[in-house]
Amino acid sequence: MTKKEPALLWRVMPADIRERLVHCLDAAASETVDDVERIVFFRADDVGVPGPRFSRLVHLFRTYRVPLTLAVVPAWLTEPRWQRLREICGNDRVLWGWLQHGWRHLNHESRGKKQEFGPSRPLSDKQKDLRLGFQRLSRLMGGHLLPAFTPPWNRCDQETLGVLQNMGYKALSSSQGARPAVTLAIPDYAVNVDLHCRKDKDATSGWQNLFEELRGSLGRGFCGIMIHHQRMNEEAFAFLNILLPELKRWDHARLVHLGTLMEEGFESTP
Ligand SMILES: [Zn+2]
Repeated sequence: MTKKEPALLWRVMPADIRERLVHCLDAAASETVDDVERIVFFRADDVGVPGPRFSRLVHLFRTYRVPLTLAVVPAWLTEPRWQRLREICGNDRVLWGWLQHGWRHLNHESRGKKQEFGPSRPLSDKQKDLRLGFQRLSRLMGGHLLPAFTPPWNRCDQETLGVLQNMGYKALSSSQGARPAVTLAIPDYAVNVDLHCRKDKDATSGWQNLFEELRGSLGRGFCGIMIHHQRMNEEAFAFLNILLPELKRWDHARLVHLGTLMEEGFESTP
């Protein structure tokens, strides 16, 4: 994994960011959601290697007591790293939900979008990687691991989706619109807001787009917010330091991690 530049919007944080966020939350609250409890979850991807940014991210979620789903790349995790991650996070099962994020986070496609579990590989190879990943994480993490899968780059092919349930996975977490439109036997708790891997044309439109994504998903009642801590700069941390307490104060949604949704048998995203 190479260090990537922060997305354009994180170069300039508007001075009125808190007002804009509160306005966005007010607008979302005014949208009617029929008898549906609004859900917000955060999913941090590419977890496995402890470091200062990861510690800082975890510290924010601990401070505000906001649950976080952590997507761990199996090949990156070792026993010492897992011990360190646990020291950083602590043992609070209400706050942390850990799931499998691919196997090595490698792209196997020679053209088109990046995929680790894409059409250029035989299904048997993909199943082997799924199994290796799950076994490695289970061995290291024991009961902390959720039987749930997030494909790298949020996408995998249809045949991979087709074997997940038989392989013991009980939930998927992709990105809204990123996976093939097939009916799944397991719920897909998809993210629909991307904080750090954005491709906006400039910072101004980036902020507009981000608030529109937040307002839309909160308004519809299911908001999954994706985090990539390796890409976070000071502005990105400063924004989370505003977003988390404002969401906590906002009285219209429940903040959870994926394990809670799985336990409750929460219906898949719309
Ligand atoms: Zn990833």
